[in-house]
Amino acid sequence: MEFTNFKDLKVYKPDPEKIKKQYEEITNRITNAQTPDEATNAILDSFKLQDEISTNFDIIYIRQTINTLDEEYSKLNDYCDEIMPVIQEYSSAVDKAILNSRFLEEIGEKFGKHYIDLLKVSDKTFKPEIIDYLINENKLQSQYRKVVSSAQIEYKGKTYTLAQLGSLMQSQDREVRKETNELYWNFYAEHDKEIGDIYDKLVKVRTTIAQKLGYDNFIQLGYDRLLRIGYNYEDVKNYRDEVYINIVPLSNELFERKIKRIGITDPHYYDYSLTFKSGNPVPKGNCEELVEAASHMYSKMNHIASEKFEFMRSHGLFDLESKKGKAPGGYEAYVPGIKAPFIFSNFNGTSGDIDVLTHEFGHALQAFLGSSYVVPSYRSPGYECCEMHSMSMEFFAYPYISLLVGEEQDEKYRYNHLVSAINFIPYGVSVDEFQHFVYANPEATHEQRKAEWRKIEKKYLPHRKYEDNAFLESGGYWLRQTHIFDSPFYYIDYTIAQVVAFEFFIESLDNYKATFEKYLKFDRLGGAYPYKELLKEAGYENGQGIPTIELMYNSEGPHKDTCQIIQQNWEEIGINVELTNQEWAVFL
Ligand code: ZN
Repeated sequence: MEFTNFKDLKVYKPDPEKIKKQYEEITNRITNAQTPDEATNAILDSFKLQDEISTNFDIIYIRQTINTLDEEYSKLNDYCDEIMPVIQEYSSAVDKAILNSRFLEEIGEKFGKHYIDLLKVSDKTFKPEIIDYLINENKLQSQYRKVVSSAQIEYKGKTYTLAQLGSLMQSQDREVRKETNELYWNFYAEHDKEIGDIYDKLVKVRTTIAQKLGYDNFIQLGYDRLLRIGYNYEDVKNYRDEVYINIVPLSNELFERKIKRIGITDPHYYDYSLTFKSGNPVPKGNCEELVEAASHMYSKMNHIASEKFEFMRSHGLFDLESKKGKAPGGYEAYVPGIKAPFIFSNFNGTSGDIDVLTHEFGHALQAFLGSSYVVPSYRSPGYECCEMHSMSMEFFAYPYISLLVGEEQDEKYRYNHLVSAINFIPYGVSVDEFQHFVYANPEATHEQRKAEWRKIEKKYLPHRKYEDNAFLESGGYWLRQTHIFDSPFYYIDYTIAQVVAFEFFIESLDNYKATFEKYLKFDRLGGAYPYKELLKEAGYENGQGIPTIELMYNSEGPHKDTCQIIQQNWEEIGINVELTNQEWAVFL
């Protein structure tokens, strides 16, 4: 589809009857195929149909999240939520016909063994009997989104969304930090019961779906829905244990040093987000200026990255500023019909804005480079690898980051980013361990879930203390984590990806250009292989199935090695060693 601007793209109310007919025709063609070509041609038509349907749905979803108050799009989006599972029934009939085809071998030869493997996994996740439950699940997810995007918080005469409060919550002024953190968490405390009820219903409906499909509980179904091939929840548990042993002590140490550095003797939860006494690094300029700076950065980084960034800019494929009615969070969504991605975010004046222009654009670049695959499921990999593309880009931006933060904050940004990246891992595995508890114990009450969260938090994030916030002390922090509601079991992917992103980073310090080429190759591979093989193809040997923590250290040895690797390279990444010696004195 040729297009000049995203805003001109037309959407329509999907007609399930018409879609049904189209899919039925394809299913029959596959079932009745007399030659392998007849079967594969029908499959190619199913790819086209799938692209057409998702293009329409994606554009509706994007516009609805940009303005959740727009009635027309809200209605359309609700309608899509409603019919999505019905459409899944038709498309899964196609999948079944493929799996039952006498030309399955030839189909596998044409589209690849991985294509068949993916069909097999996804086939386990659906039966027509679960449609009503899927519809309900979608509705509950939308309900959660509506509750959190409805927040209108008054502070000093101004009204804020939850995202907009973000920059004040890390203000240098402790009073402001305290007050805005209290307001933020009060919102969740006030909606505790409402959100808890939504989540309880989500857990129950997911558990029912799992049982109807023949699973013991939702855990393996959650993994299968994410099309994880080559590792299971036991591998993930081992990985979390490694994080507990290796990363948690390091992260704690970093925290202790930071508290000394910012000179707070009695740290409270609202101080945790502050990294420097002089305030956290902030982006240089407003949204427009930042996009301009990012454009400059990509023009220096690599010509392919630059070309794609400019394409997005000139075709209206960004919606970055936080505004009233906008859904929270940020995402990149690939729209197959235009062979291009869209980036959505809520700029709020924190360094998170920079991550959007690096992280989300990392996803976008992969989407562009993977878009040439005819098989839709090959265009992008599983989430654990997807996040490697985005998180590595955050590091590739290091040499140019002063364009986005200004010379004077250059070091600060990198320091903060790197330390946050390390600290993120224990948080990420907490979110994962929590969800394993939730779905292994679907009958637990909201209060029991909160208590379990607090217990997990104490294990992986022992520095977190909430004496003066009863809601957080009771275990309410996870209510803000949208993934727990929208994409069960997804979160661990970020931490796995973080580990591999460290690999790209450390390598890029030695040879930036060659590592970037390796990265582009990895982008182009899309999802044509399962996780382990993808990494291998990209040039990372990985015998464990899941990147182990050793991968990150690049050598054996305890956690201090990471610090050493980073410290040795501190100068190379442009950090003023004079100054950082003082920092390091407390850092290490
Ligand atoms: Zn991402």
